[in-house]
Amino acid sequence: MRTAAQVGKLAERWRRAGMRVGLVPTMGALHKGHLSLVSLALGETDRVIVSIFVNPSQFGPGEDLSSYPGIFDEDLMKLEEAGAHCVFSPSVDEIYPDGFSTSINVSGLTETLCGKYRPGHFDGVATVCAVLFSIVRPDIAVFGRKDAQQLAVIRRMNDDLRFGVEILAGEIIRESDGLAMSSRNSYLSPGERVQASAIYNGLSRAAELVSEGERDDVRIYDAVREVIGKAPLATIQYLELVDPDTMKPLSKLTTPGLLAVAVYFGHTRLIDNVILKP
Ligand code: AMP
Repeated sequence: MRTAAQVGKLAERWRRAGMRVGLVPTMGALHKGHLSLVSLALGETDRVIVSIFVNPSQFGPGEDLSSYPGIFDEDLMKLEEAGAHCVFSPSVDEIYPDGFSTSINVSGLTETLCGKYRPGHFDGVATVCAVLFSIVRPDIAVFGRKDAQQLAVIRRMNDDLRFGVEILAGEIIRESDGLAMSSRNSYLSPGERVQASAIYNGLSRAAELVSEGERDDVRIYDAVREVIGKAPLATIQYLELVDPDTMKPLSKLTTPGLLAVAVYFGHTRLIDNVILKP
């Protein structure tokens, strides 16, 4: 479906018939990570709507908006096979019609991690999700833990603006060598792809150290940097230990911490994270 009116009417019809409606927002170029969110939604609801929308307002200047992978027909086939009931793929004008002037800023949570390096990114994410929630009015919406800061921002926005949507989180789905699945992995050269597993290896080393009793942020950072440093094509943009709900920096691991990392391989920027439990 292409229009907000169409998908809104369909969702309303389902709700009136007593069905629970789930929404899975995506930007397409779907992989097993996305499909795992669809199956999570299918397990919790009667009808699942998947949106495919490459949201221009969450890309900064010089980012990969114009080259973002688009494989719509393949996506449709995957979603049909996964059992999704409706695909909402609006045009940019449908989401942001002439005169659209609203931007939602979730402060506090966006000062660390990606928020520091992608100014305006989470405003774009929060705004588009608010528009999608208003169009679909889902009972639940599912997001992946791979984008942990995005998940925290959406939860906050949903609570603050009283959307009343139940937000569910899907675990990170990985390739066999540990690399977190991402639409952006397709940008990697074969050499970069081989080295990209260093990200997961680094995060796993952190989890191992914590299980052995390490609680100090700097020693954890050093160990992760050493492992990722074994991949000469990798450049770490940030490596930060934060509180998983507030996204505020943690220096001692006395409560569970989110260790999140962004790594460049050439122009490709990959993110990943792990929850460290003391
Ligand atoms: P995207 O299409 O990249 O905007 O992602 C759409 C949704 O899929 C977001 O909620 C992501 O967190 C989630 N997602 C992306 N990659 C993965 C993955 N490897 N495992 C689980 N969820 C993912």
